[in-house]
Amino acid sequence: MTQHGLTREALFILKVDRTDDGCWEWTGKVADNGYGHFIFKEHGKAKTVLAHRFSYELFAGPIPEGFFLDHLCLKKHCVRPSHLEPVTPGENNRRHYIKQEVCAQGHPLTGDNVYVPPKHPGQRKCRICLKRISKQNYLRRHPAPPSV
Ligand SMILES: [Zn+2]
Ligand SMILES: [Zn+2]
Repeated sequence: MTQHGLTREALFILKVDRTDDGCWEWTGKVADNGYGHFIFKEHGKAKTVLAHRFSYELFAGPIPEGFFLDHLCLKKHCVRPSHLEPVTPGENNRRHYIKQEVCAQGHPLTGDNVYVPPKHPGQRKCRICLKRISKQNYLRRHPAPPSV
């Protein structure tokens, strides 16, 4: 129990804002490097942990020793466990090197325009392109009546 009479877990969840684009944005302290910090009291002492790591361990399970959590949605203050994937430091560096900032059509692959398919959390898709493709598919299935 904490000073507020809430468990650490309950306090943590209070600071999470589930946004429409599927991210769990951290509303607590965000450090200069963009990562959320979760501060709680343990045995009367203030303790600070990285919010996304706390979230992953709370909901998904222990992070393997020496692994980083990579943000698949690229929002460093997002704490949604399904947007996080444990990777080795080497893999993390490699990914950030190749991580696209624009899609094949040149749309920005950042923020709200990124769609992470729930069944394939390793993928990042462009919402603008997804919309365009689904419209094309729709028109293909529902051709306009021939003009007379
Ligand atoms: Zn996210
Ligand atoms: Zn696009």
